[in-house]
Amino acid sequence: MTDQSNLHLLGQGKKGLRIHDLVKAPANTPWAKARQQSWDASEPATVYTTPEALPDGTPCTAATVILRTKGCHWWWSSGCTFCGYFNDTRDDVTNEDLHAQWAHAKEKLNNFDGHAMVKVYTSGSLLEDREIPVEFQETVLRDCAELEKELIVESRCEQLTEAKLEWATSINPSFTVAIGLEAYDDEVLRFHVNKGFSTASWDRAVKNLEAHNLRIKTYLMFKPPFMSEADALDHSIKWIEAVAQRSDEISVNPMNIQRGTVIDRLHRHNEYRPPWLWSLVAMIERAHPFIHPKGGMNGEEDQVSRLIVHPTAGGKIRGSHNCGSCDGEVVAAIERYAVSGSLLEFEGLECECKEKWQTELMLERQLPLPLGLSKPRRAPILNALRSP
Ligand code: SF4
Ligand SMILES: [Zn+2]
Repeated sequence: MTDQSNLHLLGQGKKGLRIHDLVKAPANTPWAKARQQSWDASEPATVYTTPEALPDGTPCTAATVILRTKGCHWWWSSGCTFCGYFNDTRDDVTNEDLHAQWAHAKEKLNNFDGHAMVKVYTSGSLLEDREIPVEFQETVLRDCAELEKELIVESRCEQLTEAKLEWATSINPSFTVAIGLEAYDDEVLRFHVNKGFSTASWDRAVKNLEAHNLRIKTYLMFKPPFMSEADALDHSIKWIEAVAQRSDEISVNPMNIQRGTVIDRLHRHNEYRPPWLWSLVAMIERAHPFIHPKGGMNGEEDQVSRLIVHPTAGGKIRGSHNCGSCDGEVVAAIERYAVSGSLLEFEGLECECKEKWQTELMLERQLPLPLGLSKPRRAPILNALRSP
């Protein structure tokens, strides 16, 4: 990692580092390069199954296949501030390797027998020709259509053009595209996430997906870097409201710290605390009316979208956490809400740490420092004040 003395903060009289340099530095370290070369390109990164729900709400199981790929083209040229996918990629993966990985996954799960849904993740965009050979894109689309599986793929916005979707739906007429929008706010996309696209490009992508009758899943990020807990809570509710009508599902990902990222560095310097689980509960309670305007629950008539919050590494220091003693219970309630859509899941949840969380929010609203005020984030005061 770059030595701290190389970080030229405002007021030091030197040119500040670009966010691009901060993002790229760890990917070029010897440990990252050695790790890349250690992967077997003919086997998928991982294959597993989870309980899920079909678009009409019917419970089912989903097979998730995470392929070992060359990674994301945006990462090659810059990259998002929290993205640790570069840890799992190899830059020499071929079309044959991908077909071998796919065959491996199908064999392992007996042609996905018994699983109505198949999620194919590529640490980037499946429909991006620079990352994934067109022949392999076609194999995935065709196989899932022929096996009659509900296919979910991930994509950035710029690939979702009319021409590309015309081609994809000629092979598989019905699938879901999950887009990592992260924030419906151009300033946050640019300065906190370094996303490389704007809300306008998401608007365009969604219009094209709707025109092709494809389902839309929107990922939002809870608490990107350089944002206080209070801001994260207030912003996330606005973003959910902004995308709810145009998303079949909204999946809010509370920040978890992945190795070698900008957020990892902030975390190590005590300049970032992953979100409180209480904030996620508060977000769900305040955003619920945008999902169920009449106060209903999932499967009821007033449902506009489905709100899913899955706290990865919940209760751990690198994931969303509370005090340590109530975490398990709160994580379980949040995950139950993703299925039921009922606010009753949170009834009776209490812990002494809730008061501490409330105090931190109140303080952050009174003195809005970008790095926040919470105890684990009390960085050296000079750095805190100079923070962007
Ligand atoms: S677009 Fe997605 S895969 Fe690409 S750098 Fe950003 S988070 Fe990572
Ligand atoms: Zn607690």
